[in-house]
Amino acid sequence: MKSLVRMNPDFPKICQEILATVSRAENILVSSHEDPDGDSIGSQLAFARFAKSFGSKVTLINQGKIPGKYLFLPGIAGILNVDDYSGPVDFDLAVIFECPTRERLGKVSDFLRKEVPVINIDHHPDNSLFGKISLVNSRASSVGEMLVEFFDVTGQAIDKEMAINLYAAILTDTGRFRYNSTTRRTMEIAGLLIEKGADPREICDRIYYAMPPSLIRLTASALANINFYEQGKICLMQVDRKMLEQSHSDYSDLDGLADYTLYGNDVLVGGLIKEIEKGRTKVSLRSRGRVDVSRIAHKYGGGGHHNAAGFAVNMPIESVSEVLLEDLRKMVNGKL
Ligand code: 5GP
Repeated sequence: MKSLVRMNPDFPKICQEILATVSRAENILVSSHEDPDGDSIGSQLAFARFAKSFGSKVTLINQGKIPGKYLFLPGIAGILNVDDYSGPVDFDLAVIFECPTRERLGKVSDFLRKEVPVINIDHHPDNSLFGKISLVNSRASSVGEMLVEFFDVTGQAIDKEMAINLYAAILTDTGRFRYNSTTRRTMEIAGLLIEKGADPREICDRIYYAMPPSLIRLTASALANINFYEQGKICLMQVDRKMLEQSHSDYSDLDGLADYTLYGNDVLVGGLIKEIEKGRTKVSLRSRGRVDVSRIAHKYGGGGHHNAAGFAVNMPIESVSEVLLEDLRKMVNGKL
């Protein structure tokens, strides 16, 4: 059994440092990457509950709307949108989740004044270790999994609310326990969270099988325009603003849609191309096995993991499709 603790001998020491720092702080900012996903949201919420147990003030702020499927998570109403936030920013500690760099915080990075210590907790291999304390393990399936190890090592209790959030974090960042990053330890941790009160059926249903009709319509129109190339090895999907408007959906509803690009039996690499606004486009890449999509994401200033990565560029959606397809063709033919 490979626990994160065994993979990184410094893990317990860094966890103790984090515990000491959090217990001393009085006014904590908790945040994660822009356009938050299940792992970043669940981890933030579980950590905030733990930090509040020391009597500290904890403020959760993110850039980007919370996808509707996560609105059932306990404590979710406490996450504020940076665009609506006009409160004080005199934090004495910032705890940042799932961000390889400060820039991934979006506008929330403006709140990180120089003198404020930062705790950086992440599982991205390209993390720049930007924190005063950085707890990074690229072999962890999710930050949720790392947090369970953190609570275990430091002897902190996980209550039902935390268990639900942590289970949701792990469930979503492992693609429902499917990705290579899912280990025996991941499953043991999921089991522990069930013991603490997370209901696996309910959480899975709320996240994946409770779509509003608008989202089903959006998914249908994205699937209707799906394209395959190179004998089915490449799959591309595209969603523009018009499709969002016609289905009465918004950009945050696209969380998870990229997974459909890997449903085909021969597909090695998939891409979902999303129009953020006219002239600005985001790409979510997915791959199977040895195809490393993080290389393409890095080429365009983005990042991520071997089998799931992304980037955003200031280019119209049509041009991004062309350029991306060229790169993906090279990649599946071993020329990139
Ligand atoms: P998704 O496609 O689901 O948004 O993200 C897949 C993976 O790529 C996640 O690990 C995510 O953090 C990373 N990722 C997505 N977009 C970006 C980006 O613009 N910059 C960086 N550095 N990573 C990204």
